[in-house]
Amino acid sequence: MNEKQYTISAIKADVGSIGGHTRPSLEMLSTADQLLDTARRNKVIIDYRVMHTGDDICLLMTHRSGKNAPDIHNIALEAFFEATDIARAQGLYAAGQDLKVDSPCGNVRGAGPGAAELNVTVTDARPSEQILLFAADKTSPGAYNLPLFNLAIPTFNDAALLSKLSEGLEFEIMDMEFKHENKTMRRTARLAMPEALYDIAVLLKNPNRYAVSSIRLRKDADCGNEFVSASTDRLHNITGKYEGKDDPVLLVRAQKQFPAAEEIIQQFITAHLVPGGARGSHMGPLLPVRMNLYHNRTYQKSPSMEPFCCPIVSCAGFSIKDGIISSAVDHFDSYLFEEARRTAFRKFMDIRQNGFVEPGMLPDLEVEYVDGYQANLKKAERAFESRTF
Ligand code: MG
Ligand code: MG
Repeated sequence: MNEKQYTISAIKADVGSIGGHTRPSLEMLSTADQLLDTARRNKVIIDYRVMHTGDDICLLMTHRSGKNAPDIHNIALEAFFEATDIARAQGLYAAGQDLKVDSPCGNVRGAGPGAAELNVTVTDARPSEQILLFAADKTSPGAYNLPLFNLAIPTFNDAALLSKLSEGLEFEIMDMEFKHENKTMRRTARLAMPEALYDIAVLLKNPNRYAVSSIRLRKDADCGNEFVSASTDRLHNITGKYEGKDDPVLLVRAQKQFPAAEEIIQQFITAHLVPGGARGSHMGPLLPVRMNLYHNRTYQKSPSMEPFCCPIVSCAGFSIKDGIISSAVDHFDSYLFEEARRTAFRKFMDIRQNGFVEPGMLPDLEVEYVDGYQANLKKAERAFESRTF
């Protein structure tokens, strides 16, 4: 990369939390912060922020090593391993939950943590970046399917699509159920919007299997075409059993040739239903919550776990100039998002009345990774007999 280019990486993992699936301890966040500060002073990274949403620690880093760079991902892994040691020493719940296997790719891909990364090029017309960092907890990567699809159709996003984005977008969609003995192998589809609108829709209909991994402009932009990147790895593909719900991070570049920040956040105001919740086996509304940014041993606090592990999402906005990250704005700390939280509460109460019956609980394929469910289903099915009438 030259001095005009840099990469923005958001890497998250759940490596332990206090009293259940709640939030990491202050000491865990502090350790991650110190480790990243050392990397910054050693000029391995340009800048960083440490955040958490629910029980997931999210590390935002800027650097010039490019996407999937082993040296950058290893800094994140080291921070997560050190935070795990503290979680273990403190007796916290599920210490090291998302750290699964030796890294098959030399980076965090396939090793448990989720990563969203964007390359940017500084130009005279775009001297700085306006970034939105979404971090969701108690849900899965498909949680972003509906908001990202709506971002790309005129009904929900008029001004940008009728002006800046009118030459079309390209969606990259990940098949999250694809498994291969070569752990570095992924199965993705690249589809053009609007021509393949219905193909995109028919895939995104199933958020348990398909998720948007990136969106780019089809028109060449000097600053780089890609403006959406989301983490799409699923832990059960790595371990073969339920290991938490792959809580996804999403990075979006905003303004100028990309959608405006306000056009992006409006996609979350309906608190749409997503897979997740208690034991990752239910449907629930995606509740917008306030961000938690760790800074100088303090952080702003949002609820870390709602009843029945209602899915939650935070959204932090940053300006980034030559890799230097500004202070944060909390996009969900507003009057209208208070209303969205009330909407989410009503939806939560409605769907909880469905109890274990679908769609209150997820289809069998999704629940099969939860310990004991398949065995109980097989046992109950033994009561069936075939009879003629
Ligand atoms: Mg957890
Ligand atoms: Mg989590």
